[in-house]
Amino acid sequence: MQTYSFTTQEILDTLSEGGVKPSAQRIAILRYLMENRIHPTVDEIFKALQPTNPTLSRTTVYNTLRLLAAACIIRCIETGGGDGARWDYSQHDHAHFLCASCGKVTDIDYNDASPSFVIPPKGYIVHSTDVIFKGLCPLCSEAV
Ligand SMILES: [Zn+2]
Ligand SMILES: [Zn+2]
Repeated sequence: MQTYSFTTQEILDTLSEGGVKPSAQRIAILRYLMENRIHPTVDEIFKALQPTNPTLSRTTVYNTLRLLAAACIIRCIETGGGDGARWDYSQHDHAHFLCASCGKVTDIDYNDASPSFVIPPKGYIVHSTDVIFKGLCPLCSEAV
């Protein structure tokens, strides 16, 4: 998997572009999402950050994610799965594939997925498109 690393200044710039006031916990949460492109749940983010941020609470993680999503810095992916929404830092529009077996969420480029097969009627203005494919990933479909 591709690895990412960002300086604190880059994370501060990203927050300020979205008009979000920085705090140590916001920086830690955004850094985690920018560097770990695994579409984590609130719980996964909390468990990863809690050891180095002992004062961090699940509620703070959740509220920060909502704030970052409202600022269009990250996206919330409602998978409808039992483990709740996934969170994604991404600078480009893309679709997702949710594997029903391993639960992994994979990025799919629109070029390959062509979501343009659904076009809203005249008069509707599209701000964003969320496409989630559900099924089996290549690894899991081989195991069947
Ligand atoms: Zn799978
Ligand atoms: Zn994604």
